[in-house]
Amino acid sequence: MKNSETSAHALEPPHRGWHETGLRLQAVPAAKSYALEQVTSPVGRSTTAFRRRHFPRLSISLWNDWRWQVRNRVTSLTELSHYLKLVPVEKRAFSACPGKLPLSITPYYLSLMDPDDSADPLRRTMVPTWFEGVVGPGESGDPLVEDHDMAAPGLVHRYPDRVLFLATGFCAAYCRYCTRSRMVGHQTYGPVHSREAMERAIAYIEATPSVRDVLISGGDPLTMADDRLEWLLSRLRRIPHVEVLRLGTKTPAVLPQRITGDLVKRLKRYHPLFMSLHFTHPAELTPETARACARLADAGIPLGSQTVLLTGVNDSVETMRSLMQGLLKMRVRPYYLYQCDPITGSAHFRTPVSKGLEIIRGLRGHTSGYAVPTFVIDAPGGGGKVALYPEAVVGKNGNDLVLTNYAGGTYTYPDCGGSPGTEAC
Ligand SMILES: *Cc1c(COP(=O)(O)O)cnc(C)c1O
Repeated sequence: MKNSETSAHALEPPHRGWHETGLRLQAVPAAKSYALEQVTSPVGRSTTAFRRRHFPRLSISLWNDWRWQVRNRVTSLTELSHYLKLVPVEKRAFSACPGKLPLSITPYYLSLMDPDDSADPLRRTMVPTWFEGVVGPGESGDPLVEDHDMAAPGLVHRYPDRVLFLATGFCAAYCRYCTRSRMVGHQTYGPVHSREAMERAIAYIEATPSVRDVLISGGDPLTMADDRLEWLLSRLRRIPHVEVLRLGTKTPAVLPQRITGDLVKRLKRYHPLFMSLHFTHPAELTPETARACARLADAGIPLGSQTVLLTGVNDSVETMRSLMQGLLKMRVRPYYLYQCDPITGSAHFRTPVSKGLEIIRGLRGHTSGYAVPTFVIDAPGGGGKVALYPEAVVGKNGNDLVLTNYAGGTYTYPDCGGSPGTEAC
């Protein structure tokens, strides 16, 4: 255990300074709610084994408290070596690239990783390696040039009717392939998420009637304290032309304990509220995560998933099918499968684009249509998301379209819509 001090306020590093800016955070209900969470909290098998081994004297209720998970997240290689047998490319990680995306893993998420196998999929996504210091062709710190589309601090307005609101730079756990590694976990972007900056972003939305959809992301917005998050949601909900609110988060995967009954009760006041949940691998679909998703779905929040296609993590049809089908069972509808963005030091994660198409081909028709996400490339240079589909039209025969189906059969469709009974058909 790192530090037993219990300032149960915002999760974020103290420099964020909400205390000075006047938003008072309510005292967190303590022991009573811990007990309630405990009674109904399922804990997965490998997580139980991990807890017994590394925290034998810790109560289950404290383990299941998200504030404990955040306070005790692992943030250095030295600490990490206590839990995982590090291999040379992991040990040499930070010597290769100092000052990069920080290391942070919750004890819960760590409990899902194989301590003896550096090829473990979840471990690859969170434990830095020497390869991050290798800069490949076409890579950059901000390939989507979000910084140039900032309409206000932390507000990206790229599409006609919706904006991306970067509400925090903090995550409980940092993905090594993060598209915003330039700005998350770093103090230099701190002012972007200050209360003053948020007020400016809100003022921009208020003054821009074309914005009908606000996607709150970061960082991970669910790492904000309940009061701060609710303050933001309520301010946005008050804007008449904002029809839909969305939250983008990885919390149900890395910190499912955060989805408390109280949080969900607050979130459901701001409907229509959608959530996009970041998932990477079926190993994330634990009893804890299932419960978190069930609570959100029961609150009427439509849940979508976003997955980044990653070498050695989820780049096979079998893994992806298992992930997508598992998500559906948790009432999470697969939304996007992303080609990995060419951020600096990402070459060891990026697959050829053809791999994503192969995966979609392996899903479409073979399994429930609801289990098939849209494969997208977020176009470098700020072009936005471009959807890619495996070719289904394989030829034309007069007006007939020649189509291929999932099983490789060929079918024709008489494409004469709109011209009933004419010669052309
Ligand atoms: C992804 C994204 C959105 C939301 O796009 P949808 O396709 O509507 O989910 C909005 N703004 C930015 C800058 C984005 O990158």
